[in-house]
Parts: sequence; structure tokens; C-alpha cells
Amino acid sequence: MKKDKILVIGACGQIGVELTLALRKMYGGNNVVASDLREEHELLKGTGPYVSLDVMNKEMLHVLVIRHNITQVYLLAAILSATGEKNPLLAWHINMQSLLNVLDIAKEEGLDKIYWPSSIAVFGPNSPKETTPQHTIIEPTTIYGISKFAGERWCEYYHHRYGTDVRSLRYPGLISYKSAPGGGTTDYAVEIYHEALDEGHYKCFLSENTYLPMMYMPDAIRATIELMEADSARITVRSAYNLSGMSFSPKEIAGAIQQHIPAFTVSYEPDYRQDIANSWPQSIDDGEAAKDWGWQPQYDLPKMTEDMLKNLKEQKG
Ligand code: NAD
Repeated sequence: MKKDKILVIGACGQIGVELTLALRKMYGGNNVVASDLREEHELLKGTGPYVSLDVMNKEMLHVLVIRHNITQVYLLAAILSATGEKNPLLAWHINMQSLLNVLDIAKEEGLDKIYWPSSIAVFGPNSPKETTPQHTIIEPTTIYGISKFAGERWCEYYHHRYGTDVRSLRYPGLISYKSAPGGGTTDYAVEIYHEALDEGHYKCFLSENTYLPMMYMPDAIRATIELMEADSARITVRSAYNLSGMSFSPKEIAGAIQQHIPAFTVSYEPDYRQDIANSWPQSIDDGEAAKDWGWQPQYDLPKMTEDMLKNLKEQKG
């Protein structure tokens, strides 16, 4: 077991639950403090310490870091893309201030490592749509993307100016069965599996040929841990690494589900989230992550679909 003491902020969200469980396996349950605004998630109960925390309260966060001798922070609390468009000023405030609170406490307390995720939402309509490179035109049009891009600049700034060891990934849309998604534009790719099993039909809020970069949660958790475990000298990108798993459209995921449930049908009624999706890349070039710390995804669409349906069937009894 390692000696690090980790704080996960936003531990009850879609990524937080699975990341907290994975970190507890590696570091020991008591060495990973889970925190969130919400009540403790069912899957976290009994696996390690849980504290109620509003990351916007910097003093409370600072006290928690000192009291628990925290050495690493994973900051996952955020307002996601679709929710952000409903209240842009709130999304900006929460997404920026939470990061600044963590970075500043990291600097003051000399914390070892910080993890904060960015997103493919940093790219905008003027970025190349296919195999979007690490360094390219970045002109996000959603408030979520703008806050992630600004956050990346702050991470790089804290690293260069104060030596803070902060690391980040531009996650694509994440697909999982353990914990529900939290208001993103790619949430359809989780809902569609549930509805296929529950109703045999899904009404999709994106059009059938909307390609977006996606990733199955086990790959995202592994990428996060591999990045955080990598020797600091190998991390050449201190803003956020491009990260790629797979790329598909609603029509293609429906086809993959129909391989298992032939009677499954989908109708398409695009809403405001279509505009968000249209501004994003269709696929991502993650060559820098592969070169620097050896990133390789393991799941494609058929393999993910088989695993999602198997686990959801078990979960739903
Ligand atoms: P989520 O919405 O499922 O979870 C976020 C958690 O943060 C929630 O449990 C929420 O209660 C908590 N939270 C919100 N405000 C808080 C506050 N003030 N104090 C403490 N906790 C608070 O989000 P997620 O999908 O798990 O995303 C985690 C991170 O990954 C975010 O930064 C998100 O932008 C990023 N990301 C996610 C995806 C995806 O597809 N899920 C894709 C790209 C990037």
C-alpha cells in the first residue's frame, strides 16, 4: 500500500463513484476520502471515509485538507455541458472557482499531485472535426467548453509558475452503468442502453448521424490512474491531454444494441443539445498521450455494448 492520502471531490458523480472505488483498491479504503454535496452514494457506503463538502467553501476545503493530511486531490465537481447552457453564469462560477480553490490550496500546502478533468468541449466549430489534434484552433462556444479551456490555462499556469503537479485529460463522452450521468450532451449513449432494456424503444435527442468521441468508463478510469501514476518527467502536456476511445453515431450504437435486442427501435428528435454536439469534434487524435505515458484504449463499440447490456441486465434483475 502507498502512503498517499487522497481527497476525491464530486465522488458521487458518474466518474467519481468508480474512480473512488478504483483508488480505494490501490491505496486502501481509509486513504481515500470521498466528498460531495450530495448524500453518500450507495456503492461507496462502507468502503472508506465520506465527508459532506461544498468545494466552493475554500476555508472548509482547506481545513479538510489539513485535518486529513491530504497529499493528492481529484477534483471532479463541475456543471456539465447541457446543464451549463441553462445557467451560464452559475456554470462559469462553479467550474472556475472550484478549480482555483483547489489549485491555491495545493500551492499553499505543497500538495503532491492534483487531478482535474477537462473535456473535448474545449474544441469549437473552427477546430478540425476529425482526428482533432492536441494543439489546434480552440474556440469553444459553450460556457462549459469556455470554462474547461480557461481551467486548462490555469493548470498550466500553476505548474509553470508554482511547480504544482497538476494533470488533466480531455475526456470524451463517458459511458457507464454504475452511476448515472450528470447532464452532459453525450448522456444519450447511456440512456439508450437503459431504454433498450426497459422499453425496447429510445427517443434520441441527437440526430442519427451525429458522430462524437466516446469512451467506456473502465478505459477512462484506467487512463486517469495511468496518467496520475506516470513519472512527472514524462508529462509534457500540463494543460490537458487529448484522450480517445471510440467514435460513433446514435444510428451506430442503435445498430450495436440491435445485435443483442433485434426488436429495439429508435426515433430522433434533436433538441438544443444538437447545437452543442455540432460544435464538437467527431474523433480525437490522442498521439501525445500514447507517446508520453503509453495510453491505449481497450474497448470498442461492440465490446462495450456487450458489457453494458450484460451488467445492466444483472442490475435490473
Ligand atoms: P457528475 O455531474 O456526474 O458529478 C459531479 C459531482 O460533483 C456530483 O456528484 C455533484 O453532486 C458534485 N458537485 C457539484 N457541485 C459541487 C460542489 N459545489 N461541491 C462538491 N461537490 C459538488 O459529473 P461527472 O460526469 O462525474 O464529471 C466529472 C468531471 O469530469 C467533471 O469535471 C466533468 O466536466 C468531466 N467530464 C465528464 C465527462 C462525462 O462524459 N461524464 C466528459 C468530459 C469531462
